[in-house]
Amino acid sequence: MRLVLLGPPGSGKGTYASRLNIRLGVPHISTGHIVRDEIKAGTELGKQIRRYSDRGGLVPDEIIIEMLQARLDRPDCAKGFILDGFPRTIPQADALGKIAEIDLVINLNVPDEIIIQRLSNRLVCRRCGAIFNTLTLKPKKDLICDECGGELYTRDDDRPEVIKERLTVYRRETAPLIEHYRNKELLKDVYCDDLKTSPEVIVERIISIVSNLGLLQP
Ligand code: ADP
Ligand code: ZN
Repeated sequence: MRLVLLGPPGSGKGTYASRLNIRLGVPHISTGHIVRDEIKAGTELGKQIRRYSDRGGLVPDEIIIEMLQARLDRPDCAKGFILDGFPRTIPQADALGKIAEIDLVINLNVPDEIIIQRLSNRLVCRRCGAIFNTLTLKPKKDLICDECGGELYTRDDDRPEVIKERLTVYRRETAPLIEHYRNKELLKDVYCDDLKTSPEVIVERIISIVSNLGLLQP
């Protein structure tokens, strides 16, 4: 099962992918996590890519493609993967096509008002990357991760000015992938118009698409 989750920042890719991996039996690969881990590790590469991501821009294709390729080469990806945050440009999609054959692309459709609400109230676990929201997906204890007890924080790029830039970059660089994958007949749309819809509801919708296509592994 090689699944791509496509959608603007804040459309829930990471939230759904972290629940789908258990159900689909393949790992959740988030290029955003890979980028943040590299920055946190303070490597030369981390310093170089921080300049782009802090401002809401994309890490250059050559760099991110190499980072993704290294991750997909690891043995846990042999049976497939759920990609969250990759591809984000047409050259990335072309590179991915050479690395693996994609079974399905889920396009998450979410109105801008919901995106802005979600991103400006998002909290992320410093230790395990789990995602919470101070309005809709509250942690049981303030600023503590339900999953691992780690500390919750607001991402550097979840500030209002940077959110605006990320949405602009999405429309310019990533939205063209919708038609790209629709033309290849790989794309299915999923809609979320209500801030109160729980992640589980959307996850079930995605599972039923996967299952109707005969892609569920026994
Ligand atoms: P979002 O919530 O915007 O979907 P992510 O966690 O997926 O955020 O990504 C955070 C940042 O990491 C992006 O704004 C970008 O700078 C960098 N990044 C992640 N994936 C890619 C990619 N495929 N291409 C280029 N940059 C990326
Ligand atoms: Zn955690």
